[in-house]
Amino acid sequence: TKPAVRVAVTGAAGQICYSLLFRIANGDLYGKDQPVILQLLDLPQAQGAVGGVVMELEDCAFPNLADVVITSDPKVAFKDIDAGILVGARPRSKGMERADLLSANAEIFKVQGAALNEVAKRDVKVLVVGNPANTNAYITAKSAPDLPARNITAMLRLDHNRALSQFAKKAGVLSQDIEKLAVWGNHSPTMYADYRFATVKGKPLPELVGDEAWYRDTLIPTVGKRGAAIIEARGLSSAASAANAAIDHMHDWIHGTNGAWVSMGVASDGSYGVPEGIVFGVPAVCANGDYEVVKGLPMDDFSKTKFDGTLKELLDERDGVSALLG
Ligand code: NDP
Repeated sequence: TKPAVRVAVTGAAGQICYSLLFRIANGDLYGKDQPVILQLLDLPQAQGAVGGVVMELEDCAFPNLADVVITSDPKVAFKDIDAGILVGARPRSKGMERADLLSANAEIFKVQGAALNEVAKRDVKVLVVGNPANTNAYITAKSAPDLPARNITAMLRLDHNRALSQFAKKAGVLSQDIEKLAVWGNHSPTMYADYRFATVKGKPLPELVGDEAWYRDTLIPTVGKRGAAIIEARGLSSAASAANAAIDHMHDWIHGTNGAWVSMGVASDGSYGVPEGIVFGVPAVCANGDYEVVKGLPMDDFSKTKFDGTLKELLDERDGVSALLG
């Protein structure tokens, strides 16, 4: 058999991980023929709960789950990892100011970035899921100067998948047949789901939808506020769909997309006027364990307004944490 890959997952006792860990152990990330070692991080007070999840993982008898490590020490969790999915984050509690939320998370991701820098494999692939995901990824990358910044990404894939399903319903097509959808910017209600380049079997998606007002006034806000709608309906935040999007993001990065576009939050190289280093949702194509941003797409007035709005939010978030980065 092949040597095992090591995957660290943080927030292991949380809701998203209750779905995510079983998918990884089942081989949904690396494939059914690839043994995996899970290295699970959570806070000291959550260790018992992680232990319970691990009992359930054992009870599934997954053939390719080679080992499971439980720890509250990021340097143990991130030791020699091939992939890291950073889910654990400080949730917004009642009465908490946005600035406090930003700084509480900045502290967490500063420590985790430094630990990754010290002990992870040099080509580790990192996905940040915990919110504010883009800014948390930005902090992680800044705190891990010896790792390539392009390997520290944020999850826009849930917004991408949400938009695909809404478009598919409206146009009466299969979501899998929609190509070249792009979600720009922040994983927040300001994200911009851009269908201008999207096609279904060669036909332009905007023509198949045939309703620009629906796109602007219904689709965009529906995707932007989907998380809140799920909390309202379920009494709990989205978890299985977030885990699924994390799997999609990492799976495609590892295995490639055969030329298809996916949306990923990645450190900007300055293209599209996004300042270098800002972690921004862009369309990308994955191949050979790497990704390339789709460049040179034109912007019209509506796109420019949406794009600038989500960029401004990210620049404000960056300014909010810059003092902490020193
Ligand atoms: P969840 O597993 O439900 O969510 C974890 C994070 O993912 C949150 O920041 C959440 O953001 C974010 N997220 C991103 N996209 C989505 C989405 N579409 N739907 C829902 N969430 C999304 O949180 P739990 O509270 O159940 O569990 C968190 C775990 O993390 C706990 O076990 C806690 O102990 C741990 N933790 C670990 C830390 C560490 O290891 N240092 C630090 C902090 C927490 P949002 O809050 O905006 O919903």
